[in-house]
Amino acid sequence: MRPFRYSPLPANVVFGFGTVAALREEVERLGCKRALVVTTAEQSALGDLAKTHLGPAFAGLFAQATMHTPVEVSERALGYAREVKADCVVGLGGGSTTGLAKALALRTDMPQVVVPTTYAGSEATPILGETAGGQKTTQRSMKVLPETIIYDVDLTMSLPKRLSAVSGMNAIAHAVEGLYAKELDPVIALLAQDGIRALVKALPVINDRPDDREARSDALYGAWACGAVLGAVGMALHHKLCHVLGGSFNLPHAETHAIVLPHVAAYNRRYAPDALARVAAALGAADAAAGLYDLNRRLGIPLALKEIGMPEDGIDKAVAAAVASPYWNPGPVEAEPLRRLLRNAYEGQAPEGFA
Ligand code: NAD
Repeated sequence: MRPFRYSPLPANVVFGFGTVAALREEVERLGCKRALVVTTAEQSALGDLAKTHLGPAFAGLFAQATMHTPVEVSERALGYAREVKADCVVGLGGGSTTGLAKALALRTDMPQVVVPTTYAGSEATPILGETAGGQKTTQRSMKVLPETIIYDVDLTMSLPKRLSAVSGMNAIAHAVEGLYAKELDPVIALLAQDGIRALVKALPVINDRPDDREARSDALYGAWACGAVLGAVGMALHHKLCHVLGGSFNLPHAETHAIVLPHVAAYNRRYAPDALARVAAALGAADAAAGLYDLNRRLGIPLALKEIGMPEDGIDKAVAAAVASPYWNPGPVEAEPLRRLLRNAYEGQAPEGFA
């Protein structure tokens, strides 16, 4: 066993079916009395559900959460939180909603109860990405780590097939990069492998039968496990590339992660063979890169960055940006192999070594 440091993140996790009914109890457990509920406009019906379950602890609803957590939206929500004298925030929704809950916690120190409805995993991390003037910046702060997560499988049953697939692959990406992170500890390694295993089992079933409750439950458990990995260790080349691509060309977050992942697994194969062997084992595949590419195909996810709006001349720009300020990676981040990686991902070809 190599030397390690283990620092688990403090969080209460309630997992099951119908668990949203515990909202009031969980808010009160945190010593709070007035919850501001946040969600997106599309999911505003969840606001009514929260109101029912919070009873007298409901202080108000702000249903304007938006992708990439724009600071203007957070400031408006902050004004409303003050107006209704909120002492905690309850977020029901995907990563965008959780982002808003975290932005409020950062500004006020209010405790959060988050009820995730996608597989993004943000609820399990002390990470917040915010956008101001078109620029997204990311920070790690214990202030933004939600105190309580309520996983209610019932609330994920409505997640459309396509979103389930890409959101699930986004979660798998956290675990893949976690397995070769320099801070990896044995507990996080187990979570990463089991998170991949659970999602790999569940996502094809959900793709065929979105109302399969057992598969939905497995996927949500996998999302938590993979989110906990993201919260615990640093991310590498894959996340750097996805941040560059998302930020430069406004590509959809989860799709970008899904498309790029097999290619980064191929890139890092020779630098982190043990980690990628563990990924392959969790996937039940002979090779991690090939297994991830096949899973994308099986789930009907686009295979090419050009299909989701990346311009061809963006390849060189993305290579330059990734090489100029790389995240830590198990191997060197060099322009030429990176250009080949992005060319394959742009065209949707099989990852290098499996053409
Ligand atoms: P999202 O939250 O933007 O949701 C996408 C859409 O799906 C929204 O319209 C939402 O209302 C809808 N939706 C969500 N759950 C639904 C459900 N069960 N049924 C029907 N519709 C539903 O998407 P996301 O992929 O969950 O989150 C992406 C965002 O999260 C990005 O901004 C990303 O940067 C962030 N993120 C942050 C972290 C972190 O640790 N800070 C981790 C992962 C993702």
